[in-house]
Amino acid sequence: MFCKNDILTVEITDQGTTGEGIGKIDGYALFVKDTVIGDEVKVKIMKAKKNYAFAKLIEIIKPSPNRVVPPCSVAKSCGGCQLQAMSYQEQLRFKTDKVYNNIKRIGGIEDFAMKPIIGMEEPFYYRNKAQFPVGCNRDGKIVAGFYAGRTHSIIDIDSCMLELRPDGIDVNEKVMNIVKDFMEREEIRPYDEVSGSGLLRHVLIRIGKTTKQVMVCLIINGSTIPKQKLLVERLLTVPKMTDISLNVNYERNNVIMGTEIVPLFGPGYIEDYIGDVKFRISPRSFFQVNPVQTEKLYNRALEYADLHGNETVWDLYCGIGSISLFLAKKAKKVIGVEIIPEAIEDARVNAKINNINNVEFFVGAAEDVVPKYFEEHAGAPECKPDVIVVDPPRKGCDSKLLETMVQMAPKRIVYVSCDSATLARDLKWLNGHGYELEEVTPCDMFGQTVHVETVVLMSRSGTDC
Ligand code: SAH
Repeated sequence: MFCKNDILTVEITDQGTTGEGIGKIDGYALFVKDTVIGDEVKVKIMKAKKNYAFAKLIEIIKPSPNRVVPPCSVAKSCGGCQLQAMSYQEQLRFKTDKVYNNIKRIGGIEDFAMKPIIGMEEPFYYRNKAQFPVGCNRDGKIVAGFYAGRTHSIIDIDSCMLELRPDGIDVNEKVMNIVKDFMEREEIRPYDEVSGSGLLRHVLIRIGKTTKQVMVCLIINGSTIPKQKLLVERLLTVPKMTDISLNVNYERNNVIMGTEIVPLFGPGYIEDYIGDVKFRISPRSFFQVNPVQTEKLYNRALEYADLHGNETVWDLYCGIGSISLFLAKKAKKVIGVEIIPEAIEDARVNAKINNINNVEFFVGAAEDVVPKYFEEHAGAPECKPDVIVVDPPRKGCDSKLLETMVQMAPKRIVYVSCDSATLARDLKWLNGHGYELEEVTPCDMFGQTVHVETVVLMSRSGTDC
């Protein structure tokens, strides 16, 4: 048993699901942030419990062969990246193990094909969206950047190595320099969370990976910005600036965007592609942040769906219809269900601009819409689909939905998940209700972070896949 402030030397032999290293001394576990499997480290105990403790890294005595020098200068303090000190190969191994272990331990399933993780060719410069909080430092100077891990204090940095740089141009840095300079000159105060005063809260920047179009949306505690015409003029000096708007948010909470958009320049959206499907992205729409990996993920989902043109498919938790539209090109009919009405409006527009007519979208919770549809349309072909695709948020699928899915008895279920623990829980249930786990593919959509996406194929027992 160890106590607070004890200094110890330990070898890191394991890794927790949030990326922290784990070392053991006589069975007593030490959780140490910023360490990598294979490191020998000196640590100081910060909080000791009966069987484990949280310790702080003091010194790396012998670095792991999997350790690399993080290329970003704020990698340690910024809350965005947890794995930058780990080689990319090791990150992929960590993510693969996380998915495999969850399915085995939580899902209780052992007999399935585990495909190699779909890694990124370039695990930096991949994000198409940045949201910079704006504030003041102690000297009253405007700062903008990213929150330090688990806090709301802002690290002043305009440039992030995860963000896209079209043609090598650091669009974020250019935009943030213009905005900060404008604020200083026009004496525009940043919003202060504590007092609720000040104007500018966040700056949202989106970049189309394929189109290179740029969108800027300033989220303000008000409805206008002084001299906003001048600001628009300055922002238009950024290459491919396509849309500029304000978003009004008077709320005193952590939700970044309000509902009202005030257009300042452009059509109200930018466009981008996943594969050859075109998407219209407005400031408030959801859009996958890593379009390159998204295409690979959807292609695997499509492969698992095994469509030949005559199938009826449900796409549950469909967002702006991205998977639905991908599937629709190969199926007879796709029905999407999503809880956010604006996302469904986007999904319908996206279907139209791509001339896709064999999709239908419903607004509502999947666990309400699907059981109700099943009850009211008994015998309809939609109630006996060939394939059901689900892509739920982190909490996974509702049990009422899983029950109806099993009653609908599709030949195949394709499950896309951003949380392998809840995925494993749902796979276990489906496995106990007539579905076999055929194949699992992890996909890295978020290099340098602990997050991992997974797509799996389940098939109804007794059907030939
Ligand atoms: N398949 C989409 C979106 C996946 S994100 C894509 O790949 O782009 C998960 C989506 O589920 C979000 O759009 C969220 O709004 C939606 N959602 C959350 N709870 C839901 C529920 N109970 N029923 C239907 N949709 C839900």
